[in-house]
Amino acid sequence: MKLPDVASLADGVRAGKRAALARAITLVESDHPDHARRAQEVLTALLPDTGGAFRLGISGVPGVGKSTLIDVLGTRLTGEGRRVAVLAVDPSSRVSGGSILGDKTRMQSLARDPNAFVRPSPTSGTLGGVARKTREAMLLCEAAGFDVVMVETVGVGQSETQVSDMVDLTLVLLLAGAGDELQGIKRGILEAADVVGIQKADGDNLEPSNRARSELASALRLMRGEDVPVVACSALTGHGLAELWDTLRAERGERTASGARDARRRAQSERWMWRLVEEELLGRLRRDQSVGARATELLAAVRGGTTSPTAAARELVSKFTRNLAQESS
Ligand code: GDP
Repeated sequence: MKLPDVASLADGVRAGKRAALARAITLVESDHPDHARRAQEVLTALLPDTGGAFRLGISGVPGVGKSTLIDVLGTRLTGEGRRVAVLAVDPSSRVSGGSILGDKTRMQSLARDPNAFVRPSPTSGTLGGVARKTREAMLLCEAAGFDVVMVETVGVGQSETQVSDMVDLTLVLLLAGAGDELQGIKRGILEAADVVGIQKADGDNLEPSNRARSELASALRLMRGEDVPVVACSALTGHGLAELWDTLRAERGERTASGARDARRRAQSERWMWRLVEEELLGRLRRDQSVGARATELLAAVRGGTTSPTAAARELVSKFTRNLAQESS
Protein backbone atom coordinates (compact mmCIF):
# COMPACT_ATOMS: atom_id res chain seq x y z
CA MET A 1 0.00 0.00 0.00
CA LYS A 2 1.30 3.43 -0.94
CA LEU A 3 1.35 5.57 2.17
CA PRO A 4 -1.25 8.32 1.97
CA ASP A 5 -0.42 11.92 2.77
CA VAL A 6 -1.44 12.72 6.37
CA ALA A 7 -3.06 16.10 5.72
CA SER A 8 -5.13 15.04 2.74
CA LEU A 9 -6.25 11.80 4.37
CA ALA A 10 -7.25 13.69 7.53
CA ASP A 11 -9.13 16.24 5.41
CA GLY A 12 -10.94 13.45 3.60
CA VAL A 13 -11.98 11.84 6.88
CA ARG A 14 -13.11 15.20 8.31
CA ALA A 15 -15.20 15.79 5.18
CA GLY A 16 -16.93 12.47 5.90
CA LYS A 17 -15.69 10.80 2.73
CA ARG A 18 -16.22 7.05 3.02
CA ALA A 19 -13.19 6.11 0.92
CA ALA A 20 -10.91 8.24 3.09
CA LEU A 21 -12.41 6.79 6.27
CA ALA A 22 -12.02 3.22 4.99
CA ARG A 23 -8.44 3.97 4.00
CA ALA A 24 -7.61 5.49 7.39
CA ILE A 25 -9.10 2.48 9.17
CA THR A 26 -7.07 0.12 6.98
CA LEU A 27 -4.02 2.10 8.06
CA VAL A 28 -4.72 1.75 11.80
CA GLU A 29 -5.40 -1.94 11.26
CA SER A 30 -2.08 -2.54 9.57
CA ASP A 31 0.68 -4.19 11.57
CA HIS A 32 3.37 -2.79 9.28
CA PRO A 33 5.57 -0.38 11.32
CA ASP A 34 5.54 2.36 8.62
CA HIS A 35 1.76 2.16 8.35
CA ALA A 36 1.42 2.17 12.12
CA ARG A 37 3.50 5.34 12.35
CA ARG A 38 1.52 7.06 9.63
CA ALA A 39 -1.73 5.88 11.24
CA GLN A 40 -0.74 7.58 14.49
CA GLU A 41 0.02 10.80 12.63
CA VAL A 42 -3.42 10.72 11.04
CA LEU A 43 -5.06 9.99 14.41
CA THR A 44 -3.16 12.79 16.09
CA ALA A 45 -4.24 15.20 13.36
CA LEU A 46 -7.85 14.12 13.85
CA LEU A 47 -7.93 13.96 17.64
CA PRO A 48 -9.49 17.44 18.02
CA ASP A 49 -12.38 16.25 15.82
CA THR A 50 -13.15 13.19 17.95
CA GLY A 51 -15.36 12.78 20.99
CA GLY A 52 -18.67 13.85 19.49
CA ALA A 53 -20.38 10.50 18.99
CA PHE A 54 -22.58 8.40 21.21
CA ARG A 55 -20.28 5.41 21.73
CA LEU A 56 -22.50 2.40 22.29
CA GLY A 57 -21.26 -1.13 23.00
CA ILE A 58 -23.58 -4.04 22.20
CA SER A 59 -22.79 -7.43 23.58
CA GLY A 60 -24.48 -10.83 23.78
CA VAL A 61 -23.97 -14.46 22.91
CA PRO A 62 -24.12 -15.53 19.25
CA GLY A 63 -27.73 -15.88 18.14
CA VAL A 64 -29.20 -13.42 20.67
CA GLY A 65 -29.99 -11.10 17.77
CA LYS A 66 -27.23 -8.48 17.91
CA SER A 67 -26.91 -7.96 14.18
CA THR A 68 -30.68 -7.98 13.62
CA LEU A 69 -31.14 -5.42 16.39
CA ILE A 70 -28.30 -3.24 15.16
CA ASP A 71 -29.73 -3.33 11.65
CA VAL A 72 -33.22 -2.28 12.81
CA LEU A 73 -32.08 0.25 15.42
CA GLY A 74 -29.45 1.70 13.10
CA THR A 75 -31.95 2.08 10.28
CA ARG A 76 -34.36 3.90 12.60
CA LEU A 77 -31.59 6.27 13.57
CA THR A 78 -30.51 7.01 10.01
CA GLY A 79 -34.22 7.54 9.27
CA GLU A 80 -34.16 10.31 11.88
CA GLY A 81 -31.22 11.89 10.09
CA ARG A 82 -28.41 10.47 12.21
CA ARG A 83 -25.27 8.92 10.81
CA VAL A 84 -24.45 5.52 12.25
CA ALA A 85 -21.21 3.51 12.19
CA VAL A 86 -20.99 -0.13 13.23
CA LEU A 87 -17.75 -1.79 14.24
CA ALA A 88 -17.09 -5.24 15.67
CA VAL A 89 -14.44 -6.38 18.07
CA ASP A 90 -14.15 -10.08 17.47
CA PRO A 91 -14.13 -11.98 14.24
CA SER A 92 -16.08 -14.75 15.95
CA SER A 93 -19.08 -12.42 16.06
CA ARG A 94 -19.44 -13.18 12.39
CA VAL A 95 -19.67 -16.90 12.83
CA SER A 96 -23.27 -17.96 12.69
CA GLY A 97 -24.61 -21.48 12.37
CA GLY A 98 -21.16 -22.76 11.59
CA SER A 99 -20.65 -20.52 8.59
CA ILE A 100 -18.88 -17.22 8.47
CA LEU A 101 -21.18 -14.48 7.34
CA GLY A 102 -19.92 -11.17 6.11
CA ASP A 103 -21.27 -8.20 8.04
CA LYS A 104 -22.88 -7.01 4.84
CA THR A 105 -24.99 -10.15 4.83
CA ARG A 106 -25.85 -9.73 8.47
CA MET A 107 -26.88 -6.09 8.39
CA GLN A 108 -28.53 -5.83 5.04
CA SER A 109 -30.36 -2.54 5.42
CA LEU A 110 -27.52 -0.70 7.09
CA ALA A 111 -24.96 -2.03 4.64
CA ARG A 112 -26.90 -0.34 1.82
CA ASP A 113 -27.67 2.81 3.79
CA PRO A 114 -25.70 5.87 2.63
CA ASN A 115 -25.84 7.27 6.17
CA ALA A 116 -24.37 4.14 7.72
CA PHE A 117 -20.91 2.68 7.72
CA VAL A 118 -20.48 -1.00 8.56
CA ARG A 119 -16.96 -2.20 9.08
CA PRO A 120 -16.13 -5.80 9.94
CA SER A 121 -13.78 -6.64 12.75
CA PRO A 122 -10.06 -6.74 12.00
CA THR A 123 -9.41 -10.41 11.45
CA SER A 124 -5.87 -10.74 12.64
CA GLY A 125 -4.10 -10.17 15.91
CA THR A 126 -4.57 -10.74 19.60
CA LEU A 127 -7.78 -9.64 21.29
CA GLY A 128 -5.86 -6.70 22.75
CA GLY A 129 -4.58 -5.75 19.31
CA VAL A 130 -8.00 -6.07 17.71
CA ALA A 131 -9.54 -3.99 20.50
CA ARG A 132 -6.93 -1.27 19.99
CA LYS A 133 -7.64 -1.19 16.28
CA THR A 134 -11.39 -1.04 16.87
CA ARG A 135 -10.98 1.80 19.34
CA GLU A 136 -8.94 3.77 16.84
CA ALA A 137 -11.44 3.00 14.07
CA MET A 138 -14.12 4.38 16.41
CA LEU A 139 -12.18 7.64 16.80
CA LEU A 140 -11.86 7.90 13.02
CA CYS A 141 -15.62 7.38 12.62
CA GLU A 142 -16.20 10.19 15.11
CA ALA A 143 -13.87 12.48 13.21
CA ALA A 144 -15.83 11.60 10.06
CA GLY A 145 -18.94 12.97 11.75
CA PHE A 146 -20.84 9.84 12.73
CA ASP A 147 -23.33 10.60 15.51
CA VAL A 148 -23.58 7.08 16.84
CA VAL A 149 -20.84 4.45 16.80
CA MET A 150 -21.99 0.97 17.77
CA VAL A 151 -19.30 -1.50 18.78
CA GLU A 152 -20.48 -5.08 18.72
CA THR A 153 -18.95 -7.97 20.59
CA VAL A 154 -19.75 -11.56 21.49
CA GLY A 155 -20.55 -11.74 25.17
CA VAL A 156 -18.46 -14.67 26.15
CA GLY A 157 -15.71 -13.25 28.29
CA GLN A 158 -12.86 -10.85 27.92
CA SER A 159 -13.96 -9.08 24.78
CA GLU A 160 -16.83 -7.18 26.38
CA THR A 161 -14.55 -5.83 29.08
CA GLN A 162 -12.43 -4.42 26.28
CA VAL A 163 -15.53 -3.01 24.62
CA SER A 164 -16.97 -1.46 27.77
CA ASP A 165 -13.56 0.18 28.08
CA MET A 166 -14.03 2.09 24.82
CA VAL A 167 -17.71 3.06 24.92
CA ASP A 168 -19.97 5.39 26.90
CA LEU A 169 -22.59 2.72 27.53
CA THR A 170 -22.75 -1.04 27.13
CA LEU A 171 -26.02 -2.66 26.14
CA VAL A 172 -26.05 -6.34 27.07
CA LEU A 173 -28.58 -8.52 25.24
CA LEU A 174 -29.96 -11.63 26.91
CA LEU A 175 -32.69 -14.15 26.20
CA ALA A 176 -35.47 -14.95 28.64
CA GLY A 177 -35.53 -18.42 30.06
CA ALA A 178 -31.88 -19.10 29.48
CA GLY A 179 -31.62 -19.24 33.27
CA ASP A 180 -28.95 -16.59 33.28
CA GLU A 181 -30.93 -13.99 35.17
CA LEU A 182 -31.16 -16.10 38.32
CA GLN A 183 -28.12 -18.28 38.24
CA GLY A 184 -25.74 -15.44 37.67
CA ILE A 185 -23.81 -17.35 35.03
CA LYS A 186 -23.37 -14.17 33.13
CA ARG A 187 -22.14 -12.30 36.15
CA GLY A 188 -19.06 -10.95 34.45
CA ILE A 189 -21.09 -9.80 31.49
CA LEU A 190 -23.73 -8.22 33.70
CA GLU A 191 -21.13 -6.32 35.67
CA ALA A 192 -20.24 -4.46 32.49
CA ALA A 193 -23.90 -3.79 31.58
CA ASP A 194 -25.24 -0.25 31.69
CA VAL A 195 -28.54 -1.24 30.08
CA VAL A 196 -29.89 -4.76 29.56
CA GLY A 197 -32.15 -5.82 26.69
CA ILE A 198 -34.19 -9.02 26.90
CA GLN A 199 -34.22 -9.86 23.22
CA LYS A 200 -36.80 -11.83 21.19
CA ALA A 201 -39.68 -10.61 23.34
CA ASP A 202 -42.24 -11.75 20.77
CA GLY A 203 -44.76 -14.55 20.22
CA ASP A 204 -44.75 -17.16 22.97
CA ASN A 205 -41.66 -15.56 24.35
CA LEU A 206 -43.29 -12.23 25.18
CA GLU A 207 -44.68 -13.25 28.56
CA PRO A 208 -41.48 -15.02 29.75
CA SER A 209 -39.50 -11.98 28.61
CA ASN A 210 -41.62 -9.61 30.66
CA ARG A 211 -41.21 -11.86 33.68
CA ALA A 212 -37.46 -12.10 33.12
CA ARG A 213 -37.36 -8.34 32.94
CA SER A 214 -38.58 -7.81 36.50
CA GLU A 215 -36.60 -10.75 37.88
CA LEU A 216 -33.44 -9.50 36.30
CA ALA A 217 -34.02 -5.93 37.46
CA SER A 218 -34.24 -7.19 41.08
CA ALA A 219 -31.22 -9.46 40.66
CA LEU A 220 -29.18 -6.58 39.25
CA ARG A 221 -30.21 -4.28 42.09
CA LEU A 222 -28.92 -6.86 44.58
CA MET A 223 -25.76 -7.55 42.67
CA ARG A 224 -24.81 -4.00 41.82
CA GLY A 225 -26.48 -2.01 44.55
CA GLU A 226 -27.99 0.30 41.93
CA ASP A 227 -30.76 0.24 39.36
CA VAL A 228 -29.78 -0.96 35.91
CA PRO A 229 -32.48 -0.37 33.29
CA VAL A 230 -33.84 -3.59 31.76
CA VAL A 231 -36.00 -3.44 28.61
CA ALA A 232 -37.80 -6.30 26.85
CA CYS A 233 -37.55 -5.91 23.09
CA SER A 234 -37.86 -7.66 19.77
CA ALA A 235 -35.78 -6.82 16.75
CA LEU A 236 -38.26 -8.89 14.74
CA THR A 237 -41.53 -7.11 15.63
CA GLY A 238 -40.06 -3.82 16.80
CA HIS A 239 -41.69 -4.23 20.23
CA GLY A 240 -39.82 -2.25 22.88
CA LEU A 241 -37.29 -0.76 20.47
CA ALA A 242 -38.48 2.81 20.99
CA GLU A 243 -38.28 2.26 24.75
CA LEU A 244 -34.84 0.73 24.39
CA TRP A 245 -33.51 3.67 22.42
CA ASP A 246 -35.16 6.19 24.79
CA THR A 247 -33.57 4.39 27.74
CA LEU A 248 -30.13 4.43 26.15
CA ARG A 249 -30.47 8.07 25.26
CA ALA A 250 -31.70 9.03 28.72
CA GLU A 251 -28.81 7.17 30.38
CA ARG A 252 -26.37 8.86 28.12
CA GLY A 253 -27.93 12.26 28.71
CA GLU A 254 -27.77 11.87 32.47
CA ARG A 255 -24.15 10.78 32.41
CA THR A 256 -23.13 13.56 30.09
CA ALA A 257 -24.83 16.15 32.28
CA SER A 258 -23.33 14.82 35.52
CA GLY A 259 -19.81 14.64 34.08
CA ALA A 260 -19.74 10.85 34.53
CA ARG A 261 -19.30 10.31 30.82
CA ASP A 262 -16.22 12.48 30.59
CA ALA A 263 -14.78 10.93 33.74
CA ARG A 264 -15.29 7.50 32.22
CA ARG A 265 -13.61 8.56 28.99
CA ARG A 266 -10.63 9.96 30.87
CA ALA A 267 -10.24 6.77 32.91
CA GLN A 268 -10.51 4.75 29.69
CA SER A 269 -7.76 6.76 28.03
CA GLU A 270 -5.49 6.21 31.01
CA ARG A 271 -6.10 2.47 31.00
CA TRP A 272 -5.52 2.34 27.25
CA MET A 273 -2.22 4.11 27.62
CA TRP A 274 -0.94 1.63 30.19
CA ARG A 275 -2.31 -1.33 28.30
CA LEU A 276 -0.48 -0.18 25.18
CA VAL A 277 2.72 0.37 27.14
CA GLU A 278 2.50 -3.23 28.35
CA GLU A 279 1.72 -4.52 24.89
CA GLU A 280 4.53 -2.54 23.27
CA LEU A 281 7.11 -3.64 25.85
CA LEU A 282 6.07 -7.26 25.65
CA GLY A 283 6.07 -7.15 21.86
CA ARG A 284 9.59 -5.73 21.78
CA LEU A 285 10.81 -8.23 24.34
CA ARG A 286 9.37 -11.09 22.30
CA ARG A 287 11.03 -9.82 19.15
CA ASP A 288 14.45 -9.60 20.83
CA GLN A 289 16.20 -12.72 19.55
CA SER A 290 18.87 -13.06 22.21
CA VAL A 291 16.19 -12.72 24.89
CA GLY A 292 14.20 -15.35 23.03
CA ALA A 293 17.13 -17.76 22.98
CA ARG A 294 17.76 -17.28 26.70
CA ALA A 295 14.00 -17.63 27.37
CA THR A 296 14.04 -21.08 25.78
CA GLU A 297 16.87 -22.16 28.10
CA LEU A 298 15.27 -20.62 31.15
CA LEU A 299 11.91 -22.19 30.38
CA ALA A 300 13.57 -25.60 30.39
CA ALA A 301 15.18 -24.79 33.73
CA VAL A 302 11.86 -23.59 35.18
CA ARG A 303 10.13 -26.74 33.95
CA GLY A 304 12.93 -28.86 35.40
CA GLY A 305 12.62 -27.09 38.74
CA THR A 306 16.21 -25.80 38.78
CA THR A 307 15.27 -22.10 38.39
CA SER A 308 12.33 -20.30 39.92
CA PRO A 309 9.90 -18.47 37.62
CA THR A 310 10.72 -15.24 39.48
CA ALA A 311 14.47 -15.54 38.96
CA ALA A 312 13.93 -16.44 35.29
CA ALA A 313 11.60 -13.48 34.72
CA ARG A 314 14.02 -11.05 36.37
CA GLU A 315 16.91 -12.33 34.30
CA LEU A 316 14.96 -12.00 31.04
CA VAL A 317 13.88 -8.45 31.82
CA SER A 318 17.44 -7.48 32.82
CA LYS A 319 18.81 -8.95 29.63
CA PHE A 320 16.20 -7.13 27.61
CA THR A 321 16.85 -3.74 29.23
CA ARG A 322 20.63 -4.22 28.79
CA ASN A 323 20.04 -4.91 25.11
CA LEU A 324 17.90 -1.79 24.84
CA ALA A 325 20.58 0.32 26.53
CA GLN A 326 23.21 -1.03 24.14
CA GLU A 327 20.97 -0.35 21.15
CA SER A 328 20.53 3.29 22.10
CA SER A 329 24.19 3.94 23.02
P1 GDP B 1 -26.29 -12.45 16.51
O1 GDP B 1 -25.48 -13.69 16.35
O2 GDP B 1 -26.40 -12.03 17.95
O3 GDP B 1 -25.85 -11.32 15.64
O4 GDP B 1 -27.81 -12.83 16.11
P2 GDP B 1 -28.60 -12.58 14.76
O5 GDP B 1 -29.03 -11.16 14.67
O6 GDP B 1 -27.84 -13.14 13.62
O7 GDP B 1 -29.93 -13.42 15.02
C1 GDP B 1 -29.91 -14.81 15.20
C2 GDP B 1 -31.27 -15.38 14.78
O8 GDP B 1 -32.30 -14.89 15.63
C3 GDP B 1 -31.66 -15.01 13.38
O9 GDP B 1 -32.26 -16.13 12.78
C4 GDP B 1 -32.66 -13.89 13.57
O10 GDP B 1 -33.61 -13.84 12.52
C5 GDP B 1 -33.33 -14.26 14.86
N1 GDP B 1 -33.78 -13.06 15.60
C6 GDP B 1 -33.11 -11.92 15.77
N2 GDP B 1 -33.81 -11.04 16.51
C7 GDP B 1 -34.99 -11.67 16.80
C8 GDP B 1 -36.16 -11.28 17.56
O11 GDP B 1 -36.28 -10.20 18.11
N3 GDP B 1 -37.14 -12.23 17.68
C9 GDP B 1 -37.05 -13.45 17.10
N4 GDP B 1 -38.08 -14.29 17.28
N5 GDP B 1 -35.98 -13.84 16.38
C10 GDP B 1 -34.97 -12.96 16.23
